[in-house]
Amino acid sequence: MEILYRVRAETPADHRARFTVDVDGVRSPSLDLVVPSWVPGSYVVVNYTRGFRDFRARRGPDGTELPVERVDKARWRIRTEGASRVRAEYTVYGHQLVTEGFDLTPDHLFINAALCLPYVDGHLADPVSLEVEAPTDWKVVTELEDVPDSRHRYRARNYDELVDSPIDVGRPVLLTVNPGGIPHRISLCGTGGNYEVRRLEEDVSKVVAASIALVGDSPLKRYTLFYHLTDTPDGGLEHATSASCVVNRNCFQPGEAYRRFLALTAHEYLHLYNVKRIRPKVLGPFDYTRENYTRLLWWMEGTTDYFTYLVLRRSALYSTEQFLRQRAELVKTYLETPGRNRISLEESSLISWIDLYQRFEETPNQSVSYYLKGDLVSMCLDLEIRHRTEAHASLETVLRRLWTDYGRPGIGLEEDELLAVVNRATGLDLAPFFDRYVRGTQELDLAAFARLAGLDLAPRAKRPDERDEPESSDLGVAVEDSGGLPRVRHSFEGRTGHEGGLTPGDEIVAINGAKVTYAGFEKALEQVPPGSTAELTVFRRGYLQKISVVMGKPLPRKYAFTPMDSPSDLARAVYESWIGEPWRPERETS
Ligand SMILES: [Zn+2]
Repeated sequence: MEILYRVRAETPADHRARFTVDVDGVRSPSLDLVVPSWVPGSYVVVNYTRGFRDFRARRGPDGTELPVERVDKARWRIRTEGASRVRAEYTVYGHQLVTEGFDLTPDHLFINAALCLPYVDGHLADPVSLEVEAPTDWKVVTELEDVPDSRHRYRARNYDELVDSPIDVGRPVLLTVNPGGIPHRISLCGTGGNYEVRRLEEDVSKVVAASIALVGDSPLKRYTLFYHLTDTPDGGLEHATSASCVVNRNCFQPGEAYRRFLALTAHEYLHLYNVKRIRPKVLGPFDYTRENYTRLLWWMEGTTDYFTYLVLRRSALYSTEQFLRQRAELVKTYLETPGRNRISLEESSLISWIDLYQRFEETPNQSVSYYLKGDLVSMCLDLEIRHRTEAHASLETVLRRLWTDYGRPGIGLEEDELLAVVNRATGLDLAPFFDRYVRGTQELDLAAFARLAGLDLAPRAKRPDERDEPESSDLGVAVEDSGGLPRVRHSFEGRTGHEGGLTPGDEIVAINGAKVTYAGFEKALEQVPPGSTAELTVFRRGYLQKISVVMGKPLPRKYAFTPMDSPSDLARAVYESWIGEPWRPERETS
């Protein structure tokens, strides 16, 4: 069957694009066109067809109209009445600049195929083509293969490849760098942006080079990094030969935001290995109509995140201090998540569809992100391997082994196969580690693992030159702004607010009779000594109530990894192989 999609950027100002799907070689009495209910890489079911309208079908490109029935939210059934060529036509409203978006504005057309191009049911494996019609001064940027002698026509081996190849049409700033001799395009779409071309090119090249060095190989002929410059928080979506990122247009000057940008870039880039090629068997070919369950997302995302920061350290884009500080920030977030041992990494992976992507008020008490815990467990696994092999093997060895055995051939990991690969690659038996921290819910003794690399992990003591800032008593809640009042978003189990009965939705009006505002909430907590009983006045479901809470001790503001005074030779060797530089005990690590 031949399937050709056409998209016309008809009225960019009102965000409507016109689509046709030509299907040639039809032999069935009906044809189902189906829009995916999720996008690979974003593990949540979403109703993408809200913006569809005027769906029609006809015989051939210009023939009589054929009957169409909408079978469900995402499926249209065309009665073919003996036609061998069928054309479907429809319009889609696209005004969502997110990583898996479909966005049409007077500036550009950005397409993730899953959001606007339905597949022909039963023909996911058939080759497809796509033709783009856009203003003449717009250029098309995509990793899809050009159809020779055509204007803006591209083809893919199958529907999965089409979905895996985002397309941006517009007037992007297009840069090309060649780390490892492989052309990498940087496509900057959108207005503004405080980037400096030279630095951006250099730093992206460093990320790419360090990633290739980590795995020891690259499968790429070419790659494109799409950066959509906007004003929202950043995010990214990985693809086999590209990545689609949405970033704040002002993130490019050196500092915290730029380090986050580099981390996003490294994370999405590493996915070309981990998840796009080294992947769970169930993730491709996909079932686009429902959840595709895997227990391995912790490795696909958390371990990718762990390697992200290792790559940034190896490329010297992060100093050792910045690397260890970032680790310590993760530790703090992790230790302040009450649900960290309520659910295993495998279960947290499995229920991503209703958990990580559907967070709600109780999530922190019953669950933990497989990015966060997956990263820290990967770090501990890495330190354990380095320690037990006297720094002859590491998690990098495991990644390379996965690449050789599963990446190149693209055969997919069975759900229970990862441990065997880890054991094979390292020569160790890591089943007890997996039983405790991957399949089980035993508390991760982070300080004990840090000592394997000669580092103490503890709440950070103040340096003498630091100001003595007043410390807030702990109430154990996360609040959000509700018309100027702090409204409880999360009430953390095991902390004082929860024990006193503070519950999500409570709007805190006063503490000990004194008015409280959202802006002044932290200051208000400084006025109440730890251990004292405070009377909180709250609106609960619109009704004024009083609650007594015993204020908790302040939580550590920060954690830090600091070098031990006299670590063993083995611990030094672990540190040096891990950090990639000689042991320097005089270092102040945070
Ligand atoms: Zn990811």
